[in-house]
Amino acid sequence: MDRHRTFPGVLSTVKTVTLLGATGSIGRNTLDVIQRHPDRYRVFALTANERVEELIDLCASHRPDLAVIGNPAHAARLAAELKARGLATEVLAGVEGLIAAACDTRVDAVMAAIVGGAGLEPTLAAARAGKQVLLANKEALVMAGQLMLDAVETSGAALLPVDSEHNAIFQCLPPGTGATRGDAPSVTRLLLTASGGPFRTASLDTMRAATPDMACAHPNWVMGRKISIDSATLMNKGLEVIEARWLFGLPLDRIDVVVHPQSVIHSMVEYVDGSVLAQLGTPDMRTPIAYALAWPQRIASGSAPLDFMKLSALTFEAPDLARFPCLALAYAALRAGGAATIALNAANEIAVAAFLAQRIRFTDIAAVVEAVLQRDWSARPGGIAQVRALDGEARRHAQEQIDTVVIPSLK
Ligand code: NAD
Ligand code: MG
Repeated sequence: MDRHRTFPGVLSTVKTVTLLGATGSIGRNTLDVIQRHPDRYRVFALTANERVEELIDLCASHRPDLAVIGNPAHAARLAAELKARGLATEVLAGVEGLIAAACDTRVDAVMAAIVGGAGLEPTLAAARAGKQVLLANKEALVMAGQLMLDAVETSGAALLPVDSEHNAIFQCLPPGTGATRGDAPSVTRLLLTASGGPFRTASLDTMRAATPDMACAHPNWVMGRKISIDSATLMNKGLEVIEARWLFGLPLDRIDVVVHPQSVIHSMVEYVDGSVLAQLGTPDMRTPIAYALAWPQRIASGSAPLDFMKLSALTFEAPDLARFPCLALAYAALRAGGAATIALNAANEIAVAAFLAQRIRFTDIAAVVEAVLQRDWSARPGGIAQVRALDGEARRHAQEQIDTVVIPSLK
């Protein structure tokens, strides 16, 4: 059975959507697309973590049935303010609230756009509940790829990639294959494009002295701060290679990374006959979001058309693994298997947070991840509780490395 045709009723009616991470960059872009199609989509639930004021404003504009605040300390304020504004929106809080928003029987599709490992439980819950999972939260697949795929298989959920590269590949694969289906013998290689980030041509000295604002100044995309740092270290591309391995089922030696600074080609699929299919467009996340929302149809996204007359050149180069060791560390973790990708993701999150707090240097991020990966991560987690335990262990080791080795070395 082709699971991508298991939602025939959804397209003929209004699709109800839960937005996990509504206040973020992907969340706001999703609301922008949804707002253009009130005949097709209705917002069921909106969630945020700390930005309660923004969540209140979004509830006033989109009138969801449910609002969830990750940090329970803000729940009373959220409920009182929504009531004061005359809204009948129900309020929940914490991880249980996020899971409830993802699983509610009234929901057709879940936009998984929480950043980092915090998105794992609600994203997995949506997959287990058989929803259309519009996946931006790549960390969920990096931490628990097999669990996610098993959940999709068992429940008949659909996993639709939102990450621009994976969405591009999804668009270029033969009809009937795609996310969670690695059974296209005609496909020889996936080519993930990477912009190269703000330090593509920078010296190691410049990178060592980089501030968080310099590292977040991405040349082509406006994104949340964590993924912006990941793009600057190329860890984002490493996480995406792991994401592609789970989504499309191809081994690492058939997934290549090509640096393409203009971010016009969003990724490519190479076929056995020598054909290469690419998806092109302006760098605007509303395009992949609209494709995931409307799949297998297409809807207007609000993104500007690509003007070929204004494109000067499309260029390509190999990634420099010496200046961007995070990419090599991601390859190594994927090859190692077991819990290595859990450790990679956890150590990276801790190191990125320390860099954003200006406690460590940009180049220390890779050093912290490398030190944590040197430990034994051969355990194979059988369930979500084990994934969380290993994630916690890696976070502790990363924090210890920062506090006892990296920071003392900076003094
Ligand atoms: P962001 O920082 O702009 O937003 C993150 C959202 O997650 C916010 O709504 C925040 O409230 C919520 N959140 C954070 N921590 C939480 C917690 N502990 N519990 C509950 N909610 C929490 O991030 P973003 O750039 O929108 O990225 C979101 C995800 O999408 C990431 O996994 C990222 O890798 C992926 N992604 C983003 C882009 C992009 O263009 N921004 C592109 C591809 C993939
Ligand atoms: Mg991407």
